[in-house]
Amino acid sequence: MENNDLATLDGVGPAMSSKLKSAGLTTIEAIAVTPPKEIAEKTGIGFNTVLNIAAAARKSVGVGFITAEELWKKRQNMLKCSIGSKNLNELLGGGIETQAMTEFIGEYGAGKTQICLTLSVMAQLPVEKGGLNGNVVYVDTEGTFIPERIFQIANALELDPHETLGHIFLARAYNSSHQCLITDHLFKFCPENKIKLVIVDSMIGHFRGEYVGRENLSERQQKLNSQLHKLLRITEAFNLPVMVTNQVQANPAQFFGDPNRPAGGHVMAHACTHRVFLRKGGKGTRIARVIDSPYLPENTARFKITEKGVEDAQE
Ligand code: ATP
Ligand code: MG
Repeated sequence: MENNDLATLDGVGPAMSSKLKSAGLTTIEAIAVTPPKEIAEKTGIGFNTVLNIAAAARKSVGVGFITAEELWKKRQNMLKCSIGSKNLNELLGGGIETQAMTEFIGEYGAGKTQICLTLSVMAQLPVEKGGLNGNVVYVDTEGTFIPERIFQIANALELDPHETLGHIFLARAYNSSHQCLITDHLFKFCPENKIKLVIVDSMIGHFRGEYVGRENLSERQQKLNSQLHKLLRITEAFNLPVMVTNQVQANPAQFFGDPNRPAGGHVMAHACTHRVFLRKGGKGTRIARVIDSPYLPENTARFKITEKGVEDAQE
C-alpha cells in the first residue's frame, strides 16, 4: 500500500530522495499530506521545487476529488483496536479506530494512563483477537509509563511480558519542543518500525505548564494546533490510530452541571475525531462518555481498572 520509492516521483533524483527521507518524509503518502512550507523548512529544498514534488506526490496517491464510494472503500481498511472492556469497545463502535484521533479527557486518577497502557498491549494482538498486529509508540510527557503495569496486563492476556515490552517504543518528552521533535520524527519512525498505534500521554501537559498567562495563549494554541494536525496526518498516512489524553480545567463561569471542561479549547475540540470524557463513578468504577464524534452517539459506558488493565464494570 505505502510506496517508499520516492525516486518514482517526477523530478526526484537520488539526492533529493535522501534529503526527503532524512527529514522523515519516507513515503509518497507523507509527502502528499505534508504542507509544502513544512517540507521546504525541514529539507532545505527550494519552495518552488517542493510545490512540484508535492503535486507529483498527490497525483501519485490520487489526492484530489474522490467519489464518496472510494472514501467508503478507503474506510474499509479502517481497523479497530479493542480496549479490553466490552462496554468501552461498544461505546466507541468497536474500539479505537485507525485513520482517526481519539482523545480521552479526565481529571487526575480518571484512568487515562491506564487505558493507554492497556491499549499498548492490546494493539500487539493479531487483528482476529481485536489488536492491530503491530508495534506501539508511547510518548510519555509525564513520566507515568510504568513497565511493571505492562508486565501485569500482558500476563493477564497470557502474553510473554518481555516480548510485549519489547514492542513498545517509549519516548519520554521533557518539554513541549521536545514533544514536537518526537512528533516530527514519527513520520519516519512509524513506517520503519511497523508502528500500528501512537499514544501521547498527555498531549497538553507541557503546553499548559510552559505557556502560562493570557498573553501566551495564542502562541500555545498555534503550537498545539500544528502538533495535532501532524498527528492527524500520521493517522491517515499510516492507517493507524492516534490516542491522546487531555486534562480538564475548571470553568468558574459554570454554575450548573460539571464545572470541568476539557483543556485546550477549540483547537483540541476540532482536531480530535472522537472525544471521550472519563470520570470516577461509585465503588471504584469509572464512567466514560462520548462527548463529540462525527458518528458515535453520545452514550456512556462503565468500566473499572484492575490488575488486568481495563475491564467491564456492572451497570
Ligand atoms: P493523571 O491525570 O493524574 O495522569 P490518569 O487519568 O492518567 O490521571 P490513571 O493513572 O490512569 O489516571 O489512573 C490511576 C488509577 O488507576 C489509580 O487511582 C488506581 O485507582 C488505578 N490503578 C492503577 N493501577 C492499578 C492496579 N494495578 N489495579 C487496580 N487499579 C489500579
Ligand atoms: Mg495519567
